[in-house]
Amino acid sequence: MNWLTDFVKPKLSSLVGKKETPSDLWTTCSKCNLMLYRSELEKNFYVCSHCDQHMYVDIDSRFRQLFDEQKYDFIEIPIENSDPLEFKDLKKYTDRIKEAQKKTNQKDAAIVATGKMGGQLVCIFLLDFSFMGGSMGQYVGEAFKIGCQKAVELQCPFISISSSGGARMQEGLISLMQLPKTVAAVNLLDKEKIPFISLLTHPTTGGVSASFAMLGDIIIAEKGSMIGFAGKRVIEKTINEQLPEDFQTAEYLLDHGMIDMVVHRKELRDTLSRVVSFVKK
Ligand SMILES: [Zn+2]
Repeated sequence: MNWLTDFVKPKLSSLVGKKETPSDLWTTCSKCNLMLYRSELEKNFYVCSHCDQHMYVDIDSRFRQLFDEQKYDFIEIPIENSDPLEFKDLKKYTDRIKEAQKKTNQKDAAIVATGKMGGQLVCIFLLDFSFMGGSMGQYVGEAFKIGCQKAVELQCPFISISSSGGARMQEGLISLMQLPKTVAAVNLLDKEKIPFISLLTHPTTGGVSASFAMLGDIIIAEKGSMIGFAGKRVIEKTINEQLPEDFQTAEYLLDHGMIDMVVHRKELRDTLSRVVSFVKK
C-alpha cells in the first residue's frame, strides 16, 4: 500500500472538496498556452478562441468540416507499406510504421476521399501530420497518383490538403522518387483539364512543398501556416543574412506572389466550394 496515494491524497481531496478532472476534457493552445475546453475547441474547428491559432485537425474533423452532410467515401490505396532499405536508426522503420498505425488508426500518412462540397463532387487527397510528420514515402506518392486518377475518372476537381515535414528519409532515394511521380500525376490532371486546388496547411515543407503542393492551379494557404522548403535557420546560415520575422508564413508568401489566397479555417469550406464552382468543367 502506498500511504501517500491511498491515504493522504484522498484525505486532502475530501478536505478541499476538489474533484479530479479527466485530463482529456481540456487541452492547451499551442501558441498562447490558454487552457481550452476540448469540445468547445472542436466546435471552433480547432482554432483557439483567444489568439486565433489554427491548431492540428484530425482527418475526421477536417473531412466533416469540408464535405456536405459530413458524408464522404474513402478510396482504397492497394499497396502495402514497404521498407526497401531495411532502415534502422534508434528504432526499426517497420516498428515506427506500426507505432504510427496504432496511434492514428491509419495505414499511412495519406488519405484519399470523394464526396460533395457545396453540392459539387470533389476528390480530396489529405496528408495527416500525426502520421510520421505527414512525410512522403512510396505509399503517399501512390495515394496521390490514385487520387489524381480518381479525379480524372470522375471528371471532378482534385484538392490536395498538405501538412508535411517532407520526404520520408527512412525510404531514402525511393522517397525522393515520389517528387517526380507526384509531378507526373499533376501533369495527368493538366492533360485531362482537371482543376487542381492545393491547400497548404501548417506546416508544409521539404519534398512536399518542392513537388505537388506548389503546383496547384490555385494555391490556398490556411491562415498562419508555415510553408517553405528548408528551415529558416538553415537558410540564414547558408546566405549569412537575417531573414524577416514573418519569413515562410502563409501571409509572407501571399505578399510575395507565391500563393493565391490565405484563408481562415472557418471560411475554408465556403471558399473552397466557391473556387470549385468557378473552375469545375
Ligand atoms: Zn491561443
